[in-house]
Amino acid sequence: MAEAPAKRITDIGPPHHKKFLPPVILNNYGKWKYHEIPRPGVLLHVGETGDKLWSVRAASPRLIAIDTLRWYADLADKYAGGHLRFTSRNNVEFLVTEEKNVDPLIAELTAAGYPVGGTGNAISNIVHTQGWVHCHSAATDASGIVKCVMDELTPYFTSMKLPGKLRIALACCLNMCGAVHCSDIAILGIHRHAPAIKHDQVKKVCEIPSVVAACPTAAIRPATVEGNASVEVIEENCMYCANCYTVCPAMPLNDPDTDGVSIWVGGKVSNARTEPRFSKLAIPFLPNNPPRWPEVTEVVKKLVELWAADARKYERMGDWIERIGWPRFFKLAGIEFQKQHIDDFKHAGLTFKRSTHIRFDKA
Ligand code: SF4
Ligand code: SF4
Repeated sequence: MAEAPAKRITDIGPPHHKKFLPPVILNNYGKWKYHEIPRPGVLLHVGETGDKLWSVRAASPRLIAIDTLRWYADLADKYAGGHLRFTSRNNVEFLVTEEKNVDPLIAELTAAGYPVGGTGNAISNIVHTQGWVHCHSAATDASGIVKCVMDELTPYFTSMKLPGKLRIALACCLNMCGAVHCSDIAILGIHRHAPAIKHDQVKKVCEIPSVVAACPTAAIRPATVEGNASVEVIEENCMYCANCYTVCPAMPLNDPDTDGVSIWVGGKVSNARTEPRFSKLAIPFLPNNPPRWPEVTEVVKKLVELWAADARKYERMGDWIERIGWPRFFKLAGIEFQKQHIDDFKHAGLTFKRSTHIRFDKA
């Protein structure tokens, strides 16, 4: 006799977060008095009762093995009463209630290659995506570039000497999973030619009206090609966004020779001092050059150094650029102004210069 199917359990949601909180947080929930940052990577939270909690923040590559998770758990058992959490930038934070455990925990993390930092005016972890590890539409890799860039910027992770916070994000295609559209520096994978169309497959694997509707520039229209019900792309209207490929696997764009990376700057999410803003295009194209992406790494480092040297206290990258003006920023960064910098999508006029206020640089 066939076995009865196991009862299907569904819609139970995640476990309640309070189940995992250390007693000190439960006892002081909503009653924290203040916090301070006694050293990079360590936040000291003090409750109204006088209770203290040190959260020790370490870098994490985000993509980690179960062995690493077990090691994190062992460290938490040893130093933090079994309690840790992950931050919104994928750092790991150990929740320590005994001050004597802070130094040995930091020593053990650092010795294993997990720097402690990411607090205050620092460069914290890079919010990033799947890249060639797991996604079908990536124009570049994620983990690879992130590792190369952070290798260069680790001194800014482990210190708090910058004028303000500087957030870096990476997305491997224009879907922009994550935070590239609102980061101080964003690394974004791009394609540079129109999709190839496998006309004999379109009808079999794609819903043609959805494909047509997926194109932001209306470059796709239904067509019969060599007897196949398919689509055609008006190439001069295509901007290589790959939205069509997302809905139609018969329209691939990925190309190892022409895919690469664009760099965006000046975005922020917080409302502190100035309004949140989107990041804007700084460099239209840099090549994919694995495994170390030297061009990308060099540019990101240079942008960080320029901003760090010239920005005023608490000025974010976008605030700084607004103050000095985009022409000056381009000149300082050695970026050639190109036609790709000029917005030509809907409502582009709003981004054009509409005043006579312009600064002429001295020769
Ligand atoms: S950004 Fe694009 S390629 Fe990267 S994970 Fe998201 S959908 Fe995939
Ligand atoms: S790549 Fe983007 S712009 Fe080009 S045809 Fe596909 S959806 Fe349209």
